[in-house]
Amino acid sequence: MIFANLRTIFFGEVDVPAELRETVNAERRGAFHALAPLAAIHSLLNAVVLTFAFWNEAAMPLVFVWCYTSAVLIFIRMREARRTASDLPGAIEDGRIVRYTLFSGALWGGIICALIASSHADHYLLLGVFTAAILCVGALLHSSFPVASLGYSLLVGAGACVGMAVANPSWWLNTALLILAGILTLQRFAAASNEANIRRHLANAAMQDAKDTMALLLNDFEAHSVDWLWRIDAQHRLVKPSQRFVDAAGLPADMLEGGSFLALFAPESVHRLDELLRDRKPFKDEMLRVSIGAREAWWSVSGQPTADIGWRGVCSDVTRARDTEARIAYVTEYDSLTDLPNRAILVRQLEIAQETANATGEGFALFVIDLDNFKTLNDTQGHPAGDAYLKVVAERLRDCVGANAFLARLGGDEFAVLQTDVLIDEAGEMADHIVDALLAPVYLGNKEILAGGSVGVAVAPENGLDPAELMKNAELALYRAKAQGRGCARFFEPGMEQDAQVRADLETDLRAALAAEAMEVYFQPLVNTRTRKVSGYETLLRWNRPGHGLVSPGLFITCAEETGIIVPLGEWVIRKAIEEAAQWKDDVAVAINLSPAQMKNPSLVATVISALATYQLDPRRLEIEIVESVLMDETEHNIRTLHALRELGVKIALDDFGTGYSSLSYLRAFPFDKIKIDQRFVRDIDTSTENQAIVRAVISLARDLGMRVTAEGVENEQQAAILAGLGCTEVQGFLYSRPIPSTEIDKKDPASRAGSNILPLRRRALG
Ligand code: C2E
Ligand code: MG
Ligand code: MG
Repeated sequence: MIFANLRTIFFGEVDVPAELRETVNAERRGAFHALAPLAAIHSLLNAVVLTFAFWNEAAMPLVFVWCYTSAVLIFIRMREARRTASDLPGAIEDGRIVRYTLFSGALWGGIICALIASSHADHYLLLGVFTAAILCVGALLHSSFPVASLGYSLLVGAGACVGMAVANPSWWLNTALLILAGILTLQRFAAASNEANIRRHLANAAMQDAKDTMALLLNDFEAHSVDWLWRIDAQHRLVKPSQRFVDAAGLPADMLEGGSFLALFAPESVHRLDELLRDRKPFKDEMLRVSIGAREAWWSVSGQPTADIGWRGVCSDVTRARDTEARIAYVTEYDSLTDLPNRAILVRQLEIAQETANATGEGFALFVIDLDNFKTLNDTQGHPAGDAYLKVVAERLRDCVGANAFLARLGGDEFAVLQTDVLIDEAGEMADHIVDALLAPVYLGNKEILAGGSVGVAVAPENGLDPAELMKNAELALYRAKAQGRGCARFFEPGMEQDAQVRADLETDLRAALAAEAMEVYFQPLVNTRTRKVSGYETLLRWNRPGHGLVSPGLFITCAEETGIIVPLGEWVIRKAIEEAAQWKDDVAVAINLSPAQMKNPSLVATVISALATYQLDPRRLEIEIVESVLMDETEHNIRTLHALRELGVKIALDDFGTGYSSLSYLRAFPFDKIKIDQRFVRDIDTSTENQAIVRAVISLARDLGMRVTAEGVENEQQAAILAGLGCTEVQGFLYSRPIPSTEIDKKDPASRAGSNILPLRRRALG
């Protein structure tokens, strides 16, 4: 332990890993040889001084010998130094250095010994300085080889002591002690210097090793990943771009080296990158658009500032991923048919408008547009025509709303427009423009299509600021526009919300009534004009709504249709009506109204069959009344359903005839058993010759097509007489009876009712 410590203290020994020993030794040799010129100059100066000092002395020949030998030694050392600079000496060379040093020490020791021994006291001071200088310089020049340094010092010191012992024996011990103290101190200095050098070398080696490992890792990283590294200096110039970087940039390496990193990016990305670099904070996965000549790409760039005020980082090409992402984003945010943004984007735009309005008080308007009769067009002309129509509409709306408004497709045939920084008057103009734009006919091939659209408008902040609230209000206004005849625009009014509430209450009560079977069916007789007997009864639904009294279907059927309640409700009516009719004698028929929503229900035919079977009613006694719109919607399916019912023996009547605008074409679409002329033509038949002409034409057409005709809404004798005169076979109206509950029908003689009541009119039940 002590020995080991002494080795460290006096030789500066350090544990050097075996693999580094050779390079550490080479370093020490290098350091030793590097001092060769200094040693040569020192020796030369000493030679000059000694020659002058001892020119006339007896020791002069010795000085010459020393000078000559020293010159040889210096020559050897200089040659050795040159060799070392160009060649790696082996382990033997260390031994040579030690031997050389010891020889040199012996030479210096010898000359000092000779000079001290042969000189007189006048020279002692000079020789003392000389000895001290030799010892100091020796320790310095040989510090990288402490063993040699110690040997050298001891030889020089010994020479001085021996010389002193000869010249002045009484001083030799003092001299020896002083020299020994000096040697030990100098040796410690040499050892410390050697230790520091070795440790520095080891630290450098470790650093180099870490750098090599890092370089290896980075090379490996580049070779095996899609990413590449980048490095720039303080002026943002590229430093040593890797091959992968060169490939990614598609520019020659020498153009990239020293070139501007920012110049590779598109202007908006340059701006962003410049910001990041100026911030001097690490950044990660920044999406930047690259623009090199005609080449466009997206790079994900991460960076870290370096100590030399430059940057280093990683890049990867994310163009494909971004394209896919952009495509997905496009699909999720845009409608592929019209290329218009969808509802989600509109809501975002509304949120932005809301923020702006909050900050600046700027108003904006939301228009919700619904195409009228689009469904019919789709069904009659086919989906490709429907799609083409939507595209034309989108284009028209685009032109109409201009660049300052935001247009979106909400889905189906619904569009929306957001107009910012707008006053109510301007919003009104815009709404009119939209309605007019949609009213103009659309030409698809050689077909002219007239559809039109309705518009609901909500303005912010008056009608709310929240996107959901505005949307709801615009929808309410749209609902009103549709209810008021379509092809028009309506602004939201506070009352609309109430209406909606009323409707919501109605829906709740309807559902409850359905669940509790709280509805009733009433029956209104259909009278044969010739026999004056009841040929059948039309089933009409009645609802005794709590708090409202007996409510007529005109008030709740639409709600039931819109909410889908009509399907279970209609099934209930079918069962109830058939159950009642089955109890009537005389083969009196029963008519049931079916709404379009019921026709769409796939289980309709099964329900009818099941009810007929359950109550044992002859299908020929059942009549189904449908309105024209049944033939407008889902045409093919509905016609198939009608045929299926007809095959059972059920009769099919076209109700409210004349209220649709292309009624006659529907007569060709399906072979109806009966046409019911709408009461609007009957109402004025006694005064309006026009209505008379229409009814006459319908009766004659029906006869030609083999259909029976019923006139609805006959309220007085005059109307009845005119209708009978025109050849109408069946009438229905308050003149004969209002709709009555089943309890008022004489089950044994149901046909007799009209006979007894044909005159006078009896107002018995609610109409
Ligand atoms: P609708 O099928 O055309 O029925 C005839 C309507 O005219 C009935 O109105 C009837 O009360 C009324 N009416 C009959 N004679 C006269 C008259 O002389 N003068 C006047 N002013 N009106 C007369 P109601 O019962 O209010 O029914 C209205 C509509 O509701 C029906 O028109 C029908 O489309 C529908 N509806 C009624 N019950 C049902 C049902 O069970 N299911 C379905 N889907 N719709 C029904
Ligand atoms: Mg009817
Ligand atoms: Mg009718």
